[in-house]
Amino acid sequence: MSDAWSKEDELGIIDMIEKWVENDVRPIAKEHDQQDKYPHALAEQMKVLGLFGATIGQEFGGLGLPASIYAKIVMKVASAWMAPSGIFNSHLIQASAIERCGTQAQKERFLPRMATGELRGGVALTEPNAGTDLQAIRTTAVKDGDEYIINGAKTWITNSLNGNSLAVLVKTDLDAVPAHKGTSMFIVETKDADGNFKPGITVSKMTKLGYRAIDTCEVVFENVRVPAANLVGEKEGSGFKHAIGGLELGRINVAARGAGIAQGATELAVRYAQERETFGKAICQHQAIQLKLGEMATQVEAARLLIEQAATKYDANERCDMEAGMAKYFGSEAGVFCANEAMRIFGGYSYSVEYDIERYYRDAMLMCIGEGTNEMQRIIIAKQLIDKHKI
Ligand SMILES: Cc1cc2nc3c(=O)[nH]c(=O)nc-3n(C[C@H](O)[C@H](O)[C@H](O)COP(=O)(O)OP(=O)(O)OC[C@H]3O[C@@H](n4cnc5c(N)ncnc54)[C@H](O)[C@@H]3O)c2cc1C
Repeated sequence: MSDAWSKEDELGIIDMIEKWVENDVRPIAKEHDQQDKYPHALAEQMKVLGLFGATIGQEFGGLGLPASIYAKIVMKVASAWMAPSGIFNSHLIQASAIERCGTQAQKERFLPRMATGELRGGVALTEPNAGTDLQAIRTTAVKDGDEYIINGAKTWITNSLNGNSLAVLVKTDLDAVPAHKGTSMFIVETKDADGNFKPGITVSKMTKLGYRAIDTCEVVFENVRVPAANLVGEKEGSGFKHAIGGLELGRINVAARGAGIAQGATELAVRYAQERETFGKAICQHQAIQLKLGEMATQVEAARLLIEQAATKYDANERCDMEAGMAKYFGSEAGVFCANEAMRIFGGYSYSVEYDIERYYRDAMLMCIGEGTNEMQRIIIAKQLIDKHKI
């Protein structure tokens, strides 16, 4: 994070992203989404724009953007097409784990390559039997000389097919009590110099309702050898802490993706409501439609303000798990609400793949699930509330 970004810089970078979104992202969204085709050209453009290093410190070659600017970028991209924001979001969550918890040598080894996009990836936490309850993971890493041997299966892992590195949460002590003290995190470079997966790593792409075009896969590790120097922080037992420590920024990201969907769906609905006529007038002149548009626009603004509040605290190095949780909960629900209402405004045409709105509808729900489900967000918020106001 850096305070070297002035308001002028911020406007410049947002303007640059806006142009990229309108010229390069929006025009290809429909085709790539419908064909579930990875947007390789966008990933290359992201390298040039510096997005793979957006939140990585400038000393490691990144832009060192504060969360407040980064969230605006994410919202802008997601307002046109949410999926590509996952290419750099998940990657930056991995980078943030290294930057926060890695040794100096690990930061110097990985972050400059991550900032350029030479090394690209995400985080591999979830397993078939363990999503919310991460302490129940079964993937193991066993020390063997100056290496560890990883065995296990991860699921729903974003960027695992087209990327080449993953932050993998494993168990290094199966008997630890509490269980999270037996977890560790490894940086696994998954491919060799020719771009082939290393021996023992099998990656299978999953078919999804939405968030298409971006690779989300099952990843199996069979006797995969990783240098001990890739253990984040070079200390066993802190993997869970490393994973959840990045959640504040992760939740601000997801909030921005949800709010972006909400904004994009609202913009489409505002336009369509002026074009479509029933009973001799544009449907935007019917009060039933106006009530929807009024509610949608208000939710977009409320989500934006919650994100700004959480990001401002994050940038000031203040604890903001409650604010980030509120932003994530509200922003993602706003995405679902606005996409749903926009579907109703489009009437039967909402069901046509000719229109973009069906994509927003399919993409929105994911934001309620990722980075801690919205059920968990409300439980975390309530626990903090009770802690703060104990009687
Ligand atoms: C498209 C996609 C991409 C993803 N990308 C990644 C990725 O890159 N890396 C990664 O590691 N994971 C990824 N995930 C996985 C995602 O993080 C998990 O799906 C999520 O954490 C929920 O876990 P689960 O699916 O196992 O649900 P479960 O944990 O089984 O939860 C099921 C339901 O029970 C509720 N629940 C669970 N425990 C409690 C409780 N204590 N109290 C109240 N309610 C509870 C949940 O809120 C939910 O409603 C991705 C998922 C999807 C769909």
